[in-house]
Amino acid sequence: MRLYMILLSLLLVPLAKGDERETKELKRAVPCDEALCKLPSCRCSSTAIPGGLAPRNTPQFVLVTFDDSVNVLNMVTYRELLIGRRNSNQCPAGATFYVSHEYSNYQLINELYNNGLEIGLHSITHQTPQTYWAVANKETIEQEFADQRIQMAHLANIPLTSIQGMRMPFLQLAGNASFEVLKDIDMLYDASWPTMSFVEPGMWPYTLNYASIQDCPIPPCPTASIPGPWVLPMIAWRDLLGFPCAMVDGCFAPPDLNDENAWYNFIMQNFERHYLGNRAPFGFYVHEWHVRTNPAIFRALSRFLDVVNNLHDAFMVNSKDVIDWVKSPVSVDEYRNQPCKQNMPTSCIPSQCGPLPASHTQEQFWMQICNVCPRVYPWRGNPFGL
Ligand SMILES: [Zn+2]
Repeated sequence: MRLYMILLSLLLVPLAKGDERETKELKRAVPCDEALCKLPSCRCSSTAIPGGLAPRNTPQFVLVTFDDSVNVLNMVTYRELLIGRRNSNQCPAGATFYVSHEYSNYQLINELYNNGLEIGLHSITHQTPQTYWAVANKETIEQEFADQRIQMAHLANIPLTSIQGMRMPFLQLAGNASFEVLKDIDMLYDASWPTMSFVEPGMWPYTLNYASIQDCPIPPCPTASIPGPWVLPMIAWRDLLGFPCAMVDGCFAPPDLNDENAWYNFIMQNFERHYLGNRAPFGFYVHEWHVRTNPAIFRALSRFLDVVNNLHDAFMVNSKDVIDWVKSPVSVDEYRNQPCKQNMPTSCIPSQCGPLPASHTQEQFWMQICNVCPRVYPWRGNPFGL
């Protein structure tokens, strides 16, 4: 019995210390004070257009994002749909990839980056169950995202600082934890948090210095004051029955999957809610398989993007570009005349690695990377596969 008590106290002491540390570091967020919370580093959660611009003077940003691994199959779609596209100001069109590590081809990620597209994080393991993410503490998030950032930079040979955004698997937030990690490693934004309540008008990106008024469809949402990282809300679409959907492939009542015109109209109706409203960023958030396996959706999306690329006041951009604009907003005319953003180009010296044993499964892996081959398949806790 005495031994049991000693063991118990040994267990409890570090836990109590951990709790104390957490409450000391994190202050509960209080309602936002517009007078104190000013751009470029602070913005209250709100549907107000940044800079007080009129809607007609506000650039309509269009965000196309794809989640999960990048591989030879989905790269066909990315090349066909995105690469070579230009906005009406002749700057290359953007899109963002929230990449999960398993089965990703890092040589293709290097190619996406070199075409000016944004690489974001979507975790190393992307594991189930979803509750793993809901209860994830800082240490877990560090291993899944902070480690993934250096892993990505290493394996795809792209600059660490080009990786500025993340999206949680299943859009499952982890309370304060993921935002604390973003702050610690000086990343710009999170793009995991859907809103169903701030759709018309839409919620613009904001910071967490103060309490958010955004609805929390997939709790737990952050409650602490965490200055630094931005929230890029995923403004829901409305499907044909009016139900909200954060991801296009998650709509309950979408149009007939084989009806290109119905899909084109569906995309356009959702777009117009933004374009004819407060011009909050419009997202086409999807998994590539949904577009590849439904050619009518591919064609409808392609037509829609052609329209966007011909509008003088709408711009297909990388998600991080929206945050940059919100920090220091300028009118459509000024925005159009800015020089195009350019990535620092980087090379890939390709390595084909494998078969590599893995720590999480019996399966062996082959990897296509832009660096020397690892000893084992990189995974959580061993992001370089040493
Ligand atoms: Zn995913």
